[in-house]
Amino acid sequence: MVNILFSARDGLWDDYRGPLTQALAEFGVNADLRASGFAPGEVDYIVFAPNGPVADFTPYIRTRAVLGLWAGVEDIVHNQTLTQPLARMVDPGLATGMAEWVSGHILRYHLGLDADILNTGSEWAPRVPSLARERTVGFLGLGALGSACAAMLVGLGFQVAAWSRRPRKMDGIDTYSGDKGLRSVLGRADFLVLLLPLTRRTECVINARTLARIKPGAVLLNPGRGGLIDEGALLAALDSGRVSRATLDVFGTEPLPADHRFWTHPNVTVTPHIASATRPETAARVISENVRRGEAGLPFVNLVDRDQGY
Ligand code: NDP
Repeated sequence: MVNILFSARDGLWDDYRGPLTQALAEFGVNADLRASGFAPGEVDYIVFAPNGPVADFTPYIRTRAVLGLWAGVEDIVHNQTLTQPLARMVDPGLATGMAEWVSGHILRYHLGLDADILNTGSEWAPRVPSLARERTVGFLGLGALGSACAAMLVGLGFQVAAWSRRPRKMDGIDTYSGDKGLRSVLGRADFLVLLLPLTRRTECVINARTLARIKPGAVLLNPGRGGLIDEGALLAALDSGRVSRATLDVFGTEPLPADHRFWTHPNVTVTPHIASATRPETAARVISENVRRGEAGLPFVNLVDRDQGY
């Protein structure tokens, strides 16, 4: 019997209990799955979100792995009490949701849909928008989420350029790494999408210096993390028109304070950290596969590189 503790915010247990129980059985794991009631020394695996009750991992001396429900790990990766392997969430449902959100917001700007949806006058003004193939979407981050988004946008006909830490190859897109690669993507992108993890190296990657290299009039989408952007510098770039529009899902402070200028800026769309979410049915299978691997003595998948911070 494998003892699995589910530690996440209230409410999530109701969403995950059924799918996890079913998936663990499908993956051949004989599990006692609970949200409470174990002594820490009895727990083999912790299914974890940072907003749950477990924050000190010291007493979990038997725990073989901490299996995160979130893709982003900046809230746990520097936890000194965590000595067990940490896996993050790489969920096909999360990736599909992100690809749909990013594609939807890009199509909004690409097609100029606001002009029709918000039309206040009675102006009959036909226009011919550019084709997707005439526009470049730039990604900072080409991981599980960036690559799912890139594939969907290639499918829609866009040119795609993407920047990652290590050199990557992906069919149909131009890939870049290093400082020079970053400058290339910034200078090419009509739409710039941030899907980097928040680490010491990516914090404020969008700042006055990098904004000065952005293609004039580019649109910025940030479904990554708020800390990727120097918000003051972005506001200045929006005011000057260097960045023409921005859709922002994540912020330095969440919830976004009511008096923040992003709420009222005419060229900013705020969404409340809803770009995508882990989907219980698909995520339960990812968690179960890692428990199966742990019990079979196989290496865990989706392990976080604690030195890199993601
Ligand atoms: P991955 O770890 O799979 O991908 C991260 C990408 O960023 C990789 O391509 C990586 O490069 C690149 N990267 C990391 N550090 C650097 C660096 N210093 N310079 C250049 N590139 C770098 O993460 P995911 O795609 O799964 O998730 C990305 C982020 O999305 C999460 O960390 C989270 O913050 C955010 N997120 C937001 C959600 C929302 O609803 N708004 C929902 C879920 C996640 P390499 O390929 O070389 O490793």
